[in-house]
Amino acid sequence: MRFENDLKECTLCEHRCGVDRVAGELGVCHMAGPIVASRTLHPAPPESYTIFVAGCNFKCVGCQNWTISQFPDNRMAVEGYVDPKSLAQESIRMLESTAGILMGADRIFFSGGEPTIHLPFIEEVVKEARQLRPALKVNFDTNGFMTEKSLKRILNFTTSMTFDIKAFYNDTMRAITGAPVDPVLKNAEIVARTASEKLWEFRIVAVPEVNEDDIEPLCRFLASISKDLPVCFLAFRPNFVLDEHLGATRELMNRCVEQGRLAGLKNVTYAGTSNIPGKVGVLQRKVEGDYSRRGAKMAASYALSKGCNTHPRDCSSCLSMSTCPLKKYLPVRSC
Ligand code: SF4
Ligand code: SF4
Repeated sequence: MRFENDLKECTLCEHRCGVDRVAGELGVCHMAGPIVASRTLHPAPPESYTIFVAGCNFKCVGCQNWTISQFPDNRMAVEGYVDPKSLAQESIRMLESTAGILMGADRIFFSGGEPTIHLPFIEEVVKEARQLRPALKVNFDTNGFMTEKSLKRILNFTTSMTFDIKAFYNDTMRAITGAPVDPVLKNAEIVARTASEKLWEFRIVAVPEVNEDDIEPLCRFLASISKDLPVCFLAFRPNFVLDEHLGATRELMNRCVEQGRLAGLKNVTYAGTSNIPGKVGVLQRKVEGDYSRRGAKMAASYALSKGCNTHPRDCSSCLSMSTCPLKKYLPVRSC
C-alpha cells in the first residue's frame, strides 16, 4: 500500500496509540489496514456517493452504526479492502449515473465508523478521483477526535464536513464514548473559526437521561464562537448498548432547538424519528464516584452492565483494550 507509512506509528487520532498497524498491531480502533464496509448512493443531504469505512476510535454506548463501527470484533460482514483507484473510478461513475444525477448526488461522502482512522487511504481515493474530476466535492463525516495535524490534512481536501459532538462535559463524554471531550471541542472550534465555509453542520445526538444536561452548555459554547453556525440535533434511536433505552421524545427535540435559539444560534434544527419506546437503565453503585453528572452515571451504568469495567471509561489506557467486551456486544434491538 502506498499510504502505509502513516500507519507504522499511528497517531492519526487523539488516542495516539503509536502502534504499528502495518505489522498488525492494534490500537483502540482495532483496525490494521483500511476496510470498506459498504458504499451506496445516499439521498440524505448532502446527497452523495457515500463510502462507509469500517472501524471507529470510539465505543459509543448508543452507536447508531454499530455493525460498522465495532468491526472487526462484532464479526459483522463488510466488503473488505478496495483499491483506491478503482474506488475513485466507481465513485465518479456512480455520481454520473442516471440514479446519481436524479438524486442530485454531487460529492463523495466518507462516513463510518470514523474515517479519520483511515485518513491516508481516503486521501489516496480523493487524489485519484480528482484526477478524473478536478472539481469533485468531498464530505468528511467525523466524531472530531483527530489530532490537529490530521485535521489540517482533512481540511485540505474537504469541501464539506459533518461534525458530531456527543457531549459537552468530560464525564458525560467519557461515559458515552470512552474518550475525553477536550480534543473534540478544540477541533470543533478550529473548524468553526477557520473553516466555517466547509461546515455542513454540527450534529448532536440527543439521548434522553444521558446527555440532556450537556445540551445547553454545548449550545452556549457554539454560539460563543458564532451565532451563525449550523447545528442539527438528531433524535436518539435505541441501539447498541442502549438497545433497550427509550428513544428521544419530540418534547426533548423541541427543547434542544429551543435551547439553541435561547443561546442565540440562528441556524438550529432537529431531525430523525422521535418517540421510540423503551425504558431507563438502572444506576449502578460501582460507577457512583467516577462520574459527577447523573447522565454520565447512566451511560456508564449501561457500559458496565455489558462488561466495561474501566471507570471513568478510558479506552486508550484500558487494560482490557485488546479484548474489549463492549465491542463484541450484539444488541437485542436496533431501531
Ligand atoms: S485509535 Fe487512533 S491513534 Fe489509535 S491506532 Fe486507531 S487511528 Fe491510530
Ligand atoms: S472495556 Fe476498556 S476498552 Fe472497552 S469500552 Fe470499556 S474502557 Fe473502553
